[in-house]
Amino acid sequence: MFKPLDINESNNSQPVVSGDSEKVKCLIIGSGPAGYTAAIYAARANLSPVMYEGLQPGGQLTTTTEVENFPGYPEGVTGPVMMEDLKAQAARFGTDIRWGMATKADFSGEVHKVWIDDSKLIEAEIVIIATGATAKYLGLEDEKKYAGGGVSACATCDGFFYRGKDVAVVGGGDTAAEEAMYLAGLCRKVYLIVRRDELRASKVMADRAKKTANIEILWKHQTKGLLGDNGVVEGAVLIKNQGEAGEEEVKIKIDGFFLAIGHKPNSDIFKEYIDTDEVGYIKTIPGTSKTKVPGVFACGDVQDSHYRQAVTAAGSGCMAAIDAERYLSEKHL
Ligand code: NDP
Repeated sequence: MFKPLDINESNNSQPVVSGDSEKVKCLIIGSGPAGYTAAIYAARANLSPVMYEGLQPGGQLTTTTEVENFPGYPEGVTGPVMMEDLKAQAARFGTDIRWGMATKADFSGEVHKVWIDDSKLIEAEIVIIATGATAKYLGLEDEKKYAGGGVSACATCDGFFYRGKDVAVVGGGDTAAEEAMYLAGLCRKVYLIVRRDELRASKVMADRAKKTANIEILWKHQTKGLLGDNGVVEGAVLIKNQGEAGEEEVKIKIDGFFLAIGHKPNSDIFKEYIDTDEVGYIKTIPGTSKTKVPGVFACGDVQDSHYRQAVTAAGSGCMAAIDAERYLSEKHL
């Protein structure tokens, strides 16, 4: 079963430093389109980038199906294939791509310190943060109770387990519409639980979801809890018209409950040193990838609350590598 990844869950207390440390010129944290593009540019600029991929190598796109809007793929491409292509391109120019997750950072000195997996210390002249964002949950106790037993935030990871069954998707954005359609191809029935009376999704996606015969949209419904036995989901309890006239409790029978209500930027371990907005998106100097700490740059979904597209993430990864290269050139003048 898919285990949601959350760098924010990592323990930010003093790491156990085993004495294993390394000095590098350019450290890239995260391996989505932003991280790989930063790596391609940084490697070609002789910055000898070292990349730590994080727990989900390739990032969020490895959990999507078809990507139809990334320029250069006229027939579309699957997320995992696209990320393998980007990884191969970053490796071709010499990026040192490693398994591991950044668990603590210290940007107080001139050399930036980042600990990997609470043990290895990397001291870097430049850090490019490309840690992306992680799926949000509703915050219900039942999401934990049934974790691994029918609750998921990734239809393309877990949909296979629900072939021929009934499932629900929560959310009204493009992700929810996309996941509902993906699941509709596998499952008998898909309920789309939408808290308002309209979808936030783009018109084309919303229309496709509405026209799919085995998707039933439950307008103005919110989830109160899940039903089940032995930690396995068997149903959901919903509230229709919550707080309004005609409020009523509705029960649906489902085997899988999929969250698609947006994402949280993975910035917690950096917050002591760099500015973020109220949601956690890293603030960069407008028109650049620079954070307020010289030598620390941010790109991709961890700093983009607005566009959040693979192509904009890739573009900002390019900006980060160029900003980093110029920073180093000026520093060593
Ligand atoms: P969004 O933030 O766009 O949508 C989140 C949805 O979840 C909204 O409908 C919101 O409701 C709902 N929601 C949030 N919190 C709750 C809650 N507590 N209970 C019930 N519902 C809740 O996130 P997405 O992940 O859908 O999309 C993020 C970005 O990625 C967007 O820019 C989107 O266009 C893009 N994207 C593009 C795709 C494509 O082009 N193929 C595919 C997927 C995403 P409400 O509307 O009421 O706020």
